[in-house]
Amino acid sequence: MPENKRDYYEVLGVDKSVNDDDLKKAYRKAAKKYHPDLHPGDAEAEKSFKEVNEAYEVLSDKEKRARYDQFGHAGVDPNFGAGQGGGFGGFGGFGDFGDLGDIFGSIFGGGFSGGRRQSPNAPRRGNDASSAVNISFEEAAKGCKKTVKVTKIDNCPDCGGSGSAAGSNVKTCPVCHGSGQVSTVQRTPFGQMQTQSVCHNCNGSGKIIDNPCRKCAGKGRIRHTVEREVEIPAGIDDGQVISVRGGGDAGVNGGPSGDLRISVNVRPHPIFERVGYDVFCEIPITFTQAALGAEIVVPTLEGKVKFTIHEGTQPGDEFKLRGKGIQRLNYSGKGDQYVKIIVEVPKDLSKSQKEKLRDFDTATDDKNYKKRKGFLDKVKDFFND
Ligand SMILES: [Zn+2]
Ligand SMILES: [Zn+2]
Repeated sequence: MPENKRDYYEVLGVDKSVNDDDLKKAYRKAAKKYHPDLHPGDAEAEKSFKEVNEAYEVLSDKEKRARYDQFGHAGVDPNFGAGQGGGFGGFGGFGDFGDLGDIFGSIFGGGFSGGRRQSPNAPRRGNDASSAVNISFEEAAKGCKKTVKVTKIDNCPDCGGSGSAAGSNVKTCPVCHGSGQVSTVQRTPFGQMQTQSVCHNCNGSGKIIDNPCRKCAGKGRIRHTVEREVEIPAGIDDGQVISVRGGGDAGVNGGPSGDLRISVNVRPHPIFERVGYDVFCEIPITFTQAALGAEIVVPTLEGKVKFTIHEGTQPGDEFKLRGKGIQRLNYSGKGDQYVKIIVEVPKDLSKSQKEKLRDFDTATDDKNYKKRKGFLDKVKDFFND
């Protein structure tokens, strides 16, 4: 039955927006799962294997995929829907069925979607849900567990998703016999044509519920907000998104749940800045420390470490602490920490302090200020002094 044909994206368990790489991965996984060698004599597995291959054949072909996105199965399968719409036999002259789909699409404003509409009883994947989490710089660097709030659709806990109050029955809709669709005959420029539309007796569900569940008003599903704990991996950066498989809306008719996507916001740190997996910070020292050398304390993500500044350190000098950066996301190893030296020139000096500096200055010469000397020489040359 063509109506029961499953959505190709659903068959491979991927999103409509899936890229080529992820599509290939999903295909390999699914093909492996149902491979006949692993299930000898299992007709169900063989069917699934065929389904997976067919889905991949279409979705991996740019042109076929575009056609499928627009027209559903009817756009890619020459046999599909041929018996359904009825009366197509007379149009043999059009050749390729796909072109015919385009023609009908343009005449009826995309109404040629009868084949795409699924049976209301077919399994469908739930939609993805989204949430966000705020974490500190250190939590991002080291990983953490956080509780997030997620608003999503789940099967109603009171009726178990049936939509029917306890003790009452769910009947198959007598108008559409459970298909959720009714056929109507339309006059078209090509003669009479049968089209499908949603059954108004059951609103397309294919079921009639005598006594609807109160909690979900007979829908069988409820939108609610739940809290769940998520593991934030070490190395995550601001703006990245974590995907929790199956954490989204519940699937319909036994279909798989959607995924939960959590956007991560990382708060800035008062001392550290992050670039990739490296950590940067600036440390101000006195000009005496810079001139004489000193042992300074450097903050790192793992605590304080001592570092020796050598004699004659210049402003802007940078040093690296290997492996003191951030844990690489999903890999072993860490980035590095870079420390930039800021030399602070003292201000608000007292009279005696100033005097000492003047004395010091008279005691220095060009030998102590090589950079300055070199610069003055260049200036001299430039002006031919
Ligand atoms: Zn319910
Ligand atoms: Zn109906």
